[in-house]
Amino acid sequence: MANVQHFEYWQTLASSISIEGRAFVNGTHAGAKSGETFECRSPVDNRLLASVSSCDQADADDTVAIARKVFESGEWSQMAPVKRKKVLQTFADLIDQHAEELALLETLDMGKPIADAMNVDVPATSRCIRWCAEAIDKIYDEIAPTGADELGMVTREAVGVVAAIVPWNFPMIMASWKLGPALAMGNSVILKPSEKSPLTAIRLASLAHEAGLPAGVFNVLPGYGHTVGKALALNMDVDTLVFTGSTGIAKQLMVYAGESNMKRVWTEAGGKSPNIVFADAPDLDKAAQSAADAICFNMGEMCTAGSRLLVEESIAGEFVKKVREAFKGWRPGHPLDPQTNIGAIVDETQLNRVLAYIEKGRTDGAELTIGGQRSQVVENGFYVEPTVFENVTNDMAIAQEEIFGPVLTVITFKDEEQALKIANDSIYGLAAAVWTSNLGRAHRMARALRAGSIWVNQYDGGDMTAPFGGYKQSGNGRDKSLHAFDKYSEIKATWIKLD
Ligand code: NAD
Repeated sequence: MANVQHFEYWQTLASSISIEGRAFVNGTHAGAKSGETFECRSPVDNRLLASVSSCDQADADDTVAIARKVFESGEWSQMAPVKRKKVLQTFADLIDQHAEELALLETLDMGKPIADAMNVDVPATSRCIRWCAEAIDKIYDEIAPTGADELGMVTREAVGVVAAIVPWNFPMIMASWKLGPALAMGNSVILKPSEKSPLTAIRLASLAHEAGLPAGVFNVLPGYGHTVGKALALNMDVDTLVFTGSTGIAKQLMVYAGESNMKRVWTEAGGKSPNIVFADAPDLDKAAQSAADAICFNMGEMCTAGSRLLVEESIAGEFVKKVREAFKGWRPGHPLDPQTNIGAIVDETQLNRVLAYIEKGRTDGAELTIGGQRSQVVENGFYVEPTVFENVTNDMAIAQEEIFGPVLTVITFKDEEQALKIANDSIYGLAAAVWTSNLGRAHRMARALRAGSIWVNQYDGGDMTAPFGGYKQSGNGRDKSLHAFDKYSEIKATWIKLD
């Protein structure tokens, strides 16, 4: 019996894994039409993993035509919901059966600890697909309230061809949040993974095909944002574009939609989430541990990272000491070692970006109290020490801009009013946490915080059963839950005269 708890086990598996880098179109793997490829290197140790198809406009245009054709054939889009459900349930089962392979690909490709890939990424991906599958034959249409002489029907239809562009921090999970509801509704999908983490997307497509998804319904086009991503966003026959990534690119996609066919654009973008600790928090030890977890998990490469820790002045000294203690439990290590909790930063560009922000924090006058250096934990890999800045003010770049690395900024506040003002003083509005034992304050803050997810006395709660998404420049629309189905549906009103 394989021992997934052992570093050697994963190293052996890593040295023998076969990796597919070609696009997946119309039920089969294919190189880019141009024949171009790009190198996919591992941030773990910069080793070459695969040559990946570098798709561009020709691939995008052809694949959209294929996706449209299969959509109109009705093979998937008109299949009885109960049958679509079965195919997607099988897809979810296959994801679970290939858990080790998928987890390993994710770790090698983007650097996250293998334990997280196994315990978080794979199960969250299969759960999302399974949850959406189970919903398919439980969603009913509506009959409008009318007089006796007519019938008003409100029906939900698939939109058609969906292009999904996703980032590299949770490659499989982000893809599943789009694929689950899009496929469940009967759409055809073209997934463009990040050029920094294309491998699991390619594997997911072949597993979906194996599960019985008709050819052309789910295609994967790896490549760069400014080539194949842009081509999909400008394509005149894509009905809906769903995106997870940075706020800057989200805005660009809205422009592309306006310049082309006004396709629907739904964006899940950046964050700079406040984690607010009041003196009356029920458990300061737990809050401190959670503050460290909220910025260190996934190397801080999280849209919901608790990157701004707001602490009430009266407890700041005592509380921040506890946070510094909690940081000692987070150490960069080899991502294939199941004991590691901080893996590699996705690539050298991102590592340099994190280091540049650390330098900016220093020059702007914040006090660096933990970390701040590149770590050489694995030769040739990209690692950074978890970092804490204290005496930060909310106008500093490190408090306003998304760093996307394990860099915590600590800001103090005097009272509830000031805490709220600082928390909402951000272009982002993805999530916020409040630690207090005062029920009235918890509700007041939850109402007044301008963010899509609010956590009280915890950080990062969530499930497929509840929507996830942002206010302000953190995006629009929602992933997860039945609300997500709205992005992949057109709502039609049909009026029938009965007399
Ligand atoms: P990014 O915006 O650089 O890239 C995201 C995707 O967009 C990639 O696939 C990329 O190739 C593509 N892209 C880039 N330029 C494009 C263009 N001109 N046209 C079309 N596509 C283009 O983001 P990233 O660095 O991959 O990911 C990190 C960002 O993602 C962070 O801002 C993070 O907060 C955000 N994120 C948000 C959520 C959420 O649910 N709100 C979840 C995860 C990550």
